[in-house]
Amino acid sequence: MVKVYYNGDVNEEVLSGKKIAVIGYGSQGHAHALNLKESGADVVVGVRKGKSFNKAASDGVEVTTVKEAAAQADVVMVLLPDEQQQKVYEEEIKDQLQPGNALVFAHGFNVHFNQIVPPEFVDVFLVAPKGPGHLVRRTFEDGAGVPALFAVYQDVTGQAKDLALAYAKAIGGARAGVLETTFKEETETDLFGEQAVLCGGLTSLVKAGFETLVEAGYQPELAYFECLHELKLIVDLMYEDGMAGMRYSISDTAQWGDFVSGPRVVDARVKESMKEVLNDIQSGKFAKDWIVENQVNRPQFNAINNRESEHQIETVGRKLREMMPFVKPKRKEVVASAKN
Ligand code: NDP
Ligand code: MG
Ligand code: MG
Repeated sequence: MVKVYYNGDVNEEVLSGKKIAVIGYGSQGHAHALNLKESGADVVVGVRKGKSFNKAASDGVEVTTVKEAAAQADVVMVLLPDEQQQKVYEEEIKDQLQPGNALVFAHGFNVHFNQIVPPEFVDVFLVAPKGPGHLVRRTFEDGAGVPALFAVYQDVTGQAKDLALAYAKAIGGARAGVLETTFKEETETDLFGEQAVLCGGLTSLVKAGFETLVEAGYQPELAYFECLHELKLIVDLMYEDGMAGMRYSISDTAQWGDFVSGPRVVDARVKESMKEVLNDIQSGKFAKDWIVENQVNRPQFNAINNRESEHQIETVGRKLREMMPFVKPKRKEVVASAKN
C-alpha cells in the first residue's frame, strides 16, 4: 500500500520563518491563502489589480503585485489559470526567484509539458488538492480537509519533500490524507479524471440521459430531476460509503437495473474511447491543442460554451432551481453569468 500522510506524520516547523507568496486569488488561491494564514503561516498574495485583488484586501489578506509578492517570498505558489502561468511566470516571477526558494504549483501541467522551465537553483514541487478550491476552504473551516497530492520535481535544499508536506498540512490536506506522486502522474491523471469521468464524462452522460427522455416525449422538468438533480443524492452516498454503500440504499429494482443496464450504456466502446483520451493526454496532443486554442483567443472554447449554456437542460434547470432556494449555488458568480 502507498503511504498516506496525516497530520501526525508532518512537521510544520519547516515553514516557520518562511514567507509564502500565493500568486492568484481565485478558486484555489483564496483557499490556500486563508487556510495558510489561519494555520499561522506568513502569507502575501500577489495578483493583478481588479476583482481578485479587491477580494483579497477585503478578506484581510496582505496583497500586492505578483512581482512584489514573488520578490518577498521564500515559497512561491503559482495559482493562476494554467493557460496564463507561462506568461506571468516569464514576466513577473522568474527574475524574483532566489537560490534556495521554492517554486510551487497545484497542478503539474506547465512544468510537465515544458511551458515553464524552472531555474536549477530552486526547489520545485506541487501540492494539488483533489477538490475545488471552494471546498478546500469550506472543509478547512469545518475542521476537515480535502485530500491532496504532492510531488517533488527538483530538490536543491534537501527540504522539498518536508516543505511540500508542511504546506499540504497547512491548507488542511493532511486531515484527509496526502499522497506522494510525480508531476507526470499528477498531470496525466488529473486531466484524464476531469475529461473522462468527473466533468466531461459526467456532463455527457447526464445530457444523453436527459435528451433520451425528452426526445421520447417525457416532460423536460421530470427528465431534469431524474437525470441531474438526483445525481447529487446518489453521489453523496457513493462519497460516504462507496458504490456498495450506495447500492445498499437504493431499491433492489434499481440495483438490478444498475447491474444489467449500466454496462450496456458505459460499454467496452466507452473504455476504448477513454484509452484514446488518455493517449492524447500522454502524447501531449491535448496540451498542445489547448495551448494553441488559447493563443488564438479561444474560438472553439467560446462557441461550445455558448451552445452548452443554452441547452434545454440549463434553461429548464434554472427555472426549477429558482423554486428550490435551498439549492443555493455556493459561487454567486455562476448565477450572475448564467443570467447575463
Ligand atoms: P482561477 O481561475 O480560479 O483563479 C485565477 C486567479 O489568477 C485569479 O485571482 C485571477 O485574477 C488571477 N489571474 C489571472 N490572470 C492573471 C494575470 N495575468 N496576472 C495576475 N493574476 C492573474 O484559477 P484556479 O484556482 O482554478 O486554478 C489555479 C491552479 O490550481 C491551476 O494550476 C489549476 O490547475 C489548479 N487547480 C485548480 C483546482 C480548482 O479547484 N479550480 C483544483 C486543483 C488544482 P482576476 O480576478 O483578476 O482574474
Ligand atoms: Mg484539473
Ligand atoms: Mg428511481
